[in-house]
Amino acid sequence: MNLVGIGYDVHRFAENRALILGGVNIPHTHGLDGHSDADVLCHAIADAILGAIGERDIGHHFPNTDPECKGMSSLEIVRRAVELVTEQGGRLNNIDCTLIAEAPKIGPHLEAMKSKLAAVLSLEPKRVGIKATTNERLGFLGRQEGIAAMAVASVELP
Ligand code: MG
Repeated sequence: MNLVGIGYDVHRFAENRALILGGVNIPHTHGLDGHSDADVLCHAIADAILGAIGERDIGHHFPNTDPECKGMSSLEIVRRAVELVTEQGGRLNNIDCTLIAEAPKIGPHLEAMKSKLAAVLSLEPKRVGIKATTNERLGFLGRQEGIAAMAVASVELP
């Protein structure tokens, strides 16, 4: 049975934080605010996977009140979502996602993000789609107040 899931997340920029996207540290004037490492891309991907297999969202599995989750790498969150797929006897087919940000430029980091995510997802890098777009300077994303991410996951379950 082929199932799909959707994920969306947004985090606001904050000073004195590292910017981590897809598990990759990206040099920028600001990082993202959050309880974990605030990797907005990983969060959207994890929610897409959880949605595909009928699980509750990452806020349920990784509550931001849990001291264990504080500062944790969000690649671990994705890894746990993939484990839940495996526990149901399933496997991922592919992931596709879009980052929405005016800055920084994502292009130079795309391949590094793809290979990090592919390893955690147990997918070929070709099965991990990552696109980036600006918000045409419109709204909170256009004012560079944060970064948003959307993701879909396709999962094969027995
Ligand atoms: Mg989040």
